[in-house]
Amino acid sequence: PTVMSFDLNELVLEIVELSQQRAKYANVIIETSLGDGIAPVKASPSEMQQVFLNLVNNAIDAMDSGGGDLDVITRQEGDVVAISISDTGCGIPQANLSRIFDPFFTTKPVGKGTGLGLSIIYGIINKMGGTISVSSAVGEGTTFTIRLPAGRVDD
Ligand code: ADP
Ligand code: MG
Repeated sequence: PTVMSFDLNELVLEIVELSQQRAKYANVIIETSLGDGIAPVKASPSEMQQVFLNLVNNAIDAMDSGGGDLDVITRQEGDVVAISISDTGCGIPQANLSRIFDPFFTTKPVGKGTGLGLSIIYGIINKMGGTISVSSAVGEGTTFTIRLPAGRVDD
């Protein structure tokens, strides 16, 4: 995958656009709050698409009984660009939090989930020198936050 410098906000809008139909069907309202003048991130756009699409799909899965809100927020934090994806879904029990990034860990019925999404995401973000963290409360919702180094390819 080619690493290049690109605008994360544009990629977020693409993925949101791509997800609107499924969101509507699941009664999920997507809201975005995209930081102004965010530095370009150095990453592989196709891998980052995969990352965001997976996180959005997980969020919608978590809300697909009854709907909810999905908030996507981008912001600059010094040398780092942060993106948060929050849902008002089922939440993740404390006992599962340490396992969700493990390959093949899934709580979904057979045929619905492979349990590979988050482990692949973890690998991609790690390789790019970024971090991913999660905070969650059962019955309230979940937030995943990714932090990526900002900067141009030739830096
Ligand atoms: P899969 O989606 O195939 O189950 P993932 O690696 O994407 O695999 O996710 C692993 C598990 O983490 C899910 O089965 C689910 O239990 C939990 N999970 C991930 N994202 C969320 C979320 N937004 N809300 C609640 N649980 C989640
Ligand atoms: Mg998944």
